[in-house]
Amino acid sequence: MANPLKIVIAGCSGRMGHALLEAVFADADLVLHGALDRAGNPQLGRDAGEQFGIVSGVKLSDDVNAALKNVDVLVDFTRPEASMAYLAACQQHGVKMIIGTTGFSAEQKLAIELAAKQTAIVFAPNMSVGVTLLINLVQAAAKVLHSGYDIEILEAHHRHKVDAPSGTALRLGEAAASALGRNLDECAVYGREGVTGERDPSTIGFATVRGGDVVGDHTVLFAGTGERVELTHKASSRATFALGALRAAKFLSSKAHGLFDMQDVLNLR
Ligand code: NAD
Repeated sequence: MANPLKIVIAGCSGRMGHALLEAVFADADLVLHGALDRAGNPQLGRDAGEQFGIVSGVKLSDDVNAALKNVDVLVDFTRPEASMAYLAACQQHGVKMIIGTTGFSAEQKLAIELAAKQTAIVFAPNMSVGVTLLINLVQAAAKVLHSGYDIEILEAHHRHKVDAPSGTALRLGEAAASALGRNLDECAVYGREGVTGERDPSTIGFATVRGGDVVGDHTVLFAGTGERVELTHKASSRATFALGALRAAKFLSSKAHGLFDMQDVLNLR
């Protein structure tokens, strides 16, 4: 890459922010131009490289407008309401965006789609290469195991995760549902309790586990008569999401506008 890509990271004091900063500092094709977090965060004013023993010259700030001047891509791993504010600012400043945040409402997802008509955006609930491949594997499996197999999606995450089921579990559900011509909104069952009756074969079930420091486990189970097929991904470090997000940032350098996901980034369509 001729000139390093100028990157701003939002949510810098969070778990993903930490992994992203580390990955940007290690990549000669990228240069950190801004480090954002919410107003009132006690880390504001500190050098973004301090925790890695690096003097980057970029201080953690809540000044979005200053951070977005003359940069290429903002990488956002925060909370939906923060992402919406960053989205508006990116549109205003003509800055491309990687959205890794999860837990958006249908209305917020629509706002992202509309913004992508002007700005290039990669939006994916899981930026790992392995999970992106898993989505394709689930589609292939669902096409073969289309009848006589019950589909259940199991996920586990650390105790701090605030949304459930995970954005990745929902994405895997959408992949299975679309391969079968079903609408996930109509066939999803989120947890079961009490006398539920027999399982409706047209449903896709979700089960959520929260605890400890689990980075992210996902299994898509196809349970048939006499056999089960289980497709599983286990993330052992947040570096996988950070590296995927930065790969997505590089992918956007040749795009002026449009909404993309990791399938596009990895050319898996
Ligand atoms: P975290 O709680 O550790 O960090 C969130 C960060 O966002 C913090 O720095 C916090 O101060 C900041 N923030 C919160 N509200 C804000 C606001 N209004 N304005 C500005 N900054 C604000 O969370 P995390 O584990 O780093 O995860 C962040 C998001 O990324 C979550 O939605 C999570 O589900 C998602 N995630 C996505 C992927 C992926 O591959 N797409 C992977 C891991 C996590």
